[in-house]
Amino acid sequence: MPNAKTPRILIVGASAAGLKAGARAARLDPSAAITVLERRTFFSYGACGLPYYVGGDVDDAEELRRTAYGSVRDEGYFAAVKGLDVCSGWTAVGLDREARAVTARRADGSKRSFEYDRLVVATGARARTLPGIELGEHVLVLHTPEDARALRRGLETGQVATAIVVGGGFIGVELAVALGDMWGCEVTILEAEDRLLPQMLDREMADLVSAALAERGVTVRTGCPVIGARSTEGGAVVEAGGALAGEPLEADRAVVALGVAPECEFARAAGLAVGRSGGLVVDDRLRTSDPDIFAAGDCVEVTCAVSGAPRYVPLGSLANRAGRVVGDNLVGLKTRFPTVAGSACVKVFDLNVAATGLSEAAAARAGLAARSAWGTFYDVAHYYPEVKTLHLKLVYERESGRVLGLQAVGAGDAVKRIDLVANLLRRGGEVAEILDLEFGYSPPFNAALDPLHGIAATALNQERFAIPGIAPSAEPEGRLVLDVRRPEEIAESPSGFSNALEIACEEVRARVAEIRPGTPLLVVCEKGPRSAEIARWLQHRGFDDVAFLAGGISLRTALRPRRTG
Ligand SMILES: Cc1cc2nc3c(=O)[nH]c(=O)nc-3n(C[C@H](O)[C@H](O)[C@H](O)COP(=O)(O)OP(=O)(O)OC[C@H]3O[C@@H](n4cnc5c(N)ncnc54)[C@H](O)[C@@H]3O)c2cc1C
Repeated sequence: MPNAKTPRILIVGASAAGLKAGARAARLDPSAAITVLERRTFFSYGACGLPYYVGGDVDDAEELRRTAYGSVRDEGYFAAVKGLDVCSGWTAVGLDREARAVTARRADGSKRSFEYDRLVVATGARARTLPGIELGEHVLVLHTPEDARALRRGLETGQVATAIVVGGGFIGVELAVALGDMWGCEVTILEAEDRLLPQMLDREMADLVSAALAERGVTVRTGCPVIGARSTEGGAVVEAGGALAGEPLEADRAVVALGVAPECEFARAAGLAVGRSGGLVVDDRLRTSDPDIFAAGDCVEVTCAVSGAPRYVPLGSLANRAGRVVGDNLVGLKTRFPTVAGSACVKVFDLNVAATGLSEAAAARAGLAARSAWGTFYDVAHYYPEVKTLHLKLVYERESGRVLGLQAVGAGDAVKRIDLVANLLRRGGEVAEILDLEFGYSPPFNAALDPLHGIAATALNQERFAIPGIAPSAEPEGRLVLDVRRPEEIAESPSGFSNALEIACEEVRARVAEIRPGTPLLVVCEKGPRSAEIARWLQHRGFDDVAFLAGGISLRTALRPRRTG
């Protein structure tokens, strides 16, 4: 039983952040009286698994609320195992900070006041939509298990052969894969920006994703902002701008995946400070502008590790960690929540897509003078049978050499590389420090030098020797293209450059006289390293305007089959 000294802890929101906070506080102080208000009756499920339930990888949505050892995370589980009193079906509608009480309402209209000494707001986020979008029978969002069940029901009963996904963020892309892969739906993604995954990737890296989707039959229309969507008798009709202006699209379902917005109305109405995103402002101990009220998860803004500015990063990985920090602070520990690199990853058929920190576009928006290096690598030893390709883009600050972000796309292990760089970002690490990262090495797991070593070396050489690695999608701009691959490589994978001079790298030193002195050159090879090396040698031989194709023909070719708007 709680004693007089034990604070009454009230948590609003029974999901990742709220329940983690409560469970941690209860573990640290088993006598604590902890109540959790939750508006839903089906709660504490893994929302991240919803696209996989829609796609059929997860058979039953119930699985998403089971622990790894099979327990259902319901009220009884939290009472018996975690010592939390979860009151489900109660929506917090008011906060009286003077009286330290939250008013909550049930669906039947009944109301009750819950008093607290410490309050945690962990109310998450809601799916974003637009004024012209009318959600209904055939126009859905994917935010809750109910949404996912409705969508899957339509798929299982054969009512959905065509679908429009509104928004090409990570949930939209996961959804397109789920609908196309398992159910064979004809899917179109509509994205307002000029690329998919605009929060994660720059244009050329995003084009790799578009190409992979197009190859599997998904139509990607970028630059087409959706302005309206509604259900019709048989399906959905969606109106967009850009190239689709005046040409409404029809499909059996439209799924709106425009990201999320913080959900914290009752706390905001009580005067707690919110930032530009609408998320609650918290300090590094996750206290709101009222020191007795904590907040964590999708309803707060965090601090960007790279720019130092407030940033809205609604991710389950962060919500869980933040919940634990709140739990510590609830019982008097002074644990801090660090700045956030903002790492995200998504699987697009066989492609692994991951990013951390700032893209080149985001760095420019933050006013940082950024430079980029691209590279194409093998993810394990090149002779190992299961070797896969990985394209990397490293973004760094020109003057200081500070790493700003990394993007990784390929069939190889993208996430491992992102995770390492995320931790470097958080301590303001420089490109040269990547060379000092230590990796476990054996041919099935890596090459002797990791792709991260390769991309760091590319960036450093680019700066040291002033040999620009030109963007993989750029044109030669008056330079003579020197293709240094062997003839059989060129036959197998043509460069697409007209009038390229073909001299294999093994022969360049012997045949350099064939290149007129002073000719501006663009050296190309399959993945980048050979052309960078030859470019450096040519520079040494007096060619002072020489560049190389960053990421090589491999990256340039991978961009080609795109089918964008
Ligand atoms: C389809 C999908 C896929 C995702 N995939 C990933 C992924 O791959 N990786 C990743 O890191 N993240 C992913 N996320 C994001 C991740 O699910 C969220 O970041 C995480 O759930 C946030 O946890 P939270 O506790 O802050 O909020 P939520 O999980 O949103 O929980 C908030 C809870 O508060 C309750 N609530 C809200 N208002 C009130 C109120 N007034 N009164 C009472 N209760 C209230 C809600 O009902 C809810 O249960 C995905 C999300 C979705 C929807």
